[in-house]
Amino acid sequence: MTLRIDEAEVFRIIDERKPKGIVISTPGGLIRQTRELIDKIRSIYGVPCMLIGDTCYGICDTVDGDVERLDADLAFNIGHNATVERIGDYTYLIEAKDDVKFDSVIERAIPIMRGYRKIGLATFSQHLDELEPVKKRLEAAGFDVSTGRENSLLRESQIFGCDFSTVYPIKDEVDAFCFLGESEFHAVGLALSTDKPTYLLDPYLDEVRDMKAEAEERRRRAILSVYKALDASVFGVITGMKEGQKMLGRSKWITKRLEMHGRKVVQFAMREITAERLAPYRDIDAFVQTACPRISIDGFTFDRPVLSIPQADALVRLLEGREVGEFLQRPKWIELTMGRVRRS
Ligand code: SF4
Repeated sequence: MTLRIDEAEVFRIIDERKPKGIVISTPGGLIRQTRELIDKIRSIYGVPCMLIGDTCYGICDTVDGDVERLDADLAFNIGHNATVERIGDYTYLIEAKDDVKFDSVIERAIPIMRGYRKIGLATFSQHLDELEPVKKRLEAAGFDVSTGRENSLLRESQIFGCDFSTVYPIKDEVDAFCFLGESEFHAVGLALSTDKPTYLLDPYLDEVRDMKAEAEERRRRAILSVYKALDASVFGVITGMKEGQKMLGRSKWITKRLEMHGRKVVQFAMREITAERLAPYRDIDAFVQTACPRISIDGFTFDRPVLSIPQADALVRLLEGREVGEFLQRPKWIELTMGRVRRS
């Protein structure tokens, strides 16, 4: 795998902004390349450049609010792109592109996809450049191919692990989705959100995988957690403290609904929500967390229900005597709250 950070863009921004200090956040998979970039910045510009050592899972993990406290005036979030160039006052999104090609895996996919006529395409940040060549190849093989609609945050057919709003509107126009990339995390989310047959096209393993079983397993566990939480008397409602996940309004809404239905609620704020962090609160029967929904949907290590926002909505429906509903089938599982998002 060759992931290349758009260094030219980084240098262009530094030339333009002439910062006195820089902070950089990046996901684990890009730490080596980011450290090389930091060395280059320091040697070319002689400016302090600090790597944020905390986890950085997504575009929601910006540190704009910490920039001034770290005596800096510029921040880069590496590896997450969107239709916006800047987030907040200081943070620029810097792309990291993967140069792997889908030429081989698409040939494997074509016979598998023969059972469908209309195909939708989705992918994540690093493979966006591969959309067009894959689309052309599938069309040449006789498929009708649709791409997702660009919106105020996401590019054409781009998805996040919690936001499928580009492709959700085309789900009724297609028979199945192909997800371009090796990320089961994104492909499972796509399958759950759209409820369409979804195939992961992994260019590294050169294999095509049907996501049905993985999606069904998560859906089943998500429903089970909701029903378990229905029996809880004491809830912890956790507001995430990461910049893009700060859903205070939703936390208050859910707290109010739970209290209206006779549940006791303890309110928390947390940056990292893990089984270890929740372990000391033994008197709490179930948690609702309004941060990253994937903490709940993929979180197989919790010993009590830890519900995401869509699951909490389902719980409220049950408390109100309504049907649980297909709560994961929605275009977004969280409304990301990245401060003031700016178009350049
Ligand atoms: S909130 Fe969304 S963007 Fe952030 S880490 Fe979770 S899935 Fe990714």
